[in-house]
Amino acid sequence: MDGLRQLFQNMQSILTGEKTVSELDKYRFISVVLAFIHIALCICFYLYEYPILFIYNIFAVILYLIMGFRFTALREYALMYYCCYAEITFFSSFATLLAGWDWGFMIYLIALTPVSFYLAYSSPQFGHGIKKPFFFVSLSMVVFVITRILSTRITPLYTERIFDQHMTLMYSVNAIVSFFALLLFSILFTIEIRQNEIRLEEQYSLLESVSSKDPLTGLFNRRSMDKYLITALEQAKGDGLVFSVILGDIDDFKRVNDTYGHNIGDQVLMQVAKTISENASEGCRVCRWGGEEILIFIPENETVTYEVAEKIRQSIEQIRVPFSADYVSVTMTFGIAEYSPGLPFNKLVSIADNRLYYGKRHGKNQVVSTMPDEQTH
Ligand code: GH3
Ligand code: MG
Ligand code: MG
Repeated sequence: MDGLRQLFQNMQSILTGEKTVSELDKYRFISVVLAFIHIALCICFYLYEYPILFIYNIFAVILYLIMGFRFTALREYALMYYCCYAEITFFSSFATLLAGWDWGFMIYLIALTPVSFYLAYSSPQFGHGIKKPFFFVSLSMVVFVITRILSTRITPLYTERIFDQHMTLMYSVNAIVSFFALLLFSILFTIEIRQNEIRLEEQYSLLESVSSKDPLTGLFNRRSMDKYLITALEQAKGDGLVFSVILGDIDDFKRVNDTYGHNIGDQVLMQVAKTISENASEGCRVCRWGGEEILIFIPENETVTYEVAEKIRQSIEQIRVPFSADYVSVTMTFGIAEYSPGLPFNKLVSIADNRLYYGKRHGKNQVVSTMPDEQTH
């Protein structure tokens, strides 16, 4: 009973896409369902007094119970696949020849098509290939046609006891079961494809985030900033978006490395990145532009941008990276530039760069938004 409840819960979570179905669940479920179908057939053939088909179905029930509980435990999934296929194909044809075409047992062979492809696609044991299901479906097709031809030439064994109502009922049951199999496995196929898509989307976004970030500082790297600025520029053209860039460079960073070592230099760089990220206003995008150069995209005009840059500059002054009994502190110089229509983005960055180096030449540790000899640059 618990096993059945477990099966039912598994099916539910599979249908809602919460759970990826395991091979064991899948094959155990199929075996149990097939065992139930054959139990139902046993009852029918017992009532109809068709001894051969009744006995056959008892064996089929035993076979599926062994498969469901023994083969699954041994993880013999490929063997189960072949056994199920052989049994269903044989039974459909055998029952048709004994009882007659109009009982509808051959519909099962058609319903097997998506089942066989689904199981092979979703199973690593089949290498996700289509060769085997293609072979089996083709075989079913041949069996289907041969059975059809034979059934027109052979008189069914049980003709004299056939009642029309029985035949119609049996045909309907066979058709409904086949439709359910088609429906269920088509749904499972769709879920499997969707789950694979979700997995790929997750991996893609992980890859995107890894490839767009600088490993040391966790800031965006230059490649991703280039892409971002090109998009922002397009948007600015279309929507009249106002934005500016801040280009910052740590002052005398070479000296920090030379005096305290590269390791401390790295720690300073990480602290600087963290401080800038914390102080950058909403909508900003901070990127490690070069070695110790940081570029910030800010969706603001020059006045607001200057204030933000000034706030960042003052926060940088407060950084204290411990070294022996002392600490290391740094300052940073910034150049800012506001986007104006028609300005290519490399020109925008180069204006900020010129202002930054003006600041470097004029005492460092400052934010430069204009310079007297601007026209010459
Ligand atoms: P200025 O004030 O003119 O900018 O002087 P500076 O010493 O900062 O300029 P310079 O361009 O001469 O030196 C930059 C130094 O930054 C050189 C390089 O070793 C160091 N640097 C670049 N990337 C890293 C890094 O990832 N880690 C460390 N520790 N140092 C780096
Ligand atoms: Mg520097
Ligand atoms: Mg530099």
